[in-house]
Amino acid sequence: MKFVCDVMLGKLSKYLRVLGLDAPYIKSPSMLDSYKTLGEPYYFLTRRKQTAYPESVILVTSNVPIEQAIEIREVVRRYVDPGKIMNRCIGCNIELVDATKSDVEPHVPEFVFHQYESFKRCPACKKVYWEGSHAAHMSGLIKKILQNDT
Ligand SMILES: [Zn+2]
Repeated sequence: MKFVCDVMLGKLSKYLRVLGLDAPYIKSPSMLDSYKTLGEPYYFLTRRKQTAYPESVILVTSNVPIEQAIEIREVVRRYVDPGKIMNRCIGCNIELVDATKSDVEPHVPEFVFHQYESFKRCPACKKVYWEGSHAAHMSGLIKKILQNDT
């Protein structure tokens, strides 16, 4: 399932990527057409009122990203795979691949290199991720989205 995020939902798309979801961000409505033609199931998340509401459109009302995430969590968490949380590049929306310590040595701060044993890398932008690289508040965010209470 893809969660295609409309132009005003850039931050929300990043949150969904942290959860491991496939969340492309589109800058123009015509880009949505290319997802339609792929034939893959998708949800289109938007803040713009639509003339018709096909099942695949989810209207987001808040303009605060964390509240947007909470608004849509009932749908979102059906698709979250716990093994894939924090396994996607936040910038590129691409799944990370394992990287060896020697691969990442030139690309991470020295203390990180010494403190962590496992690293992942984005195959597109080459950004290196490690256990502590997603900001700490992200785990709070994940809890908020995946738990029932607010
Ligand atoms: Zn990337």
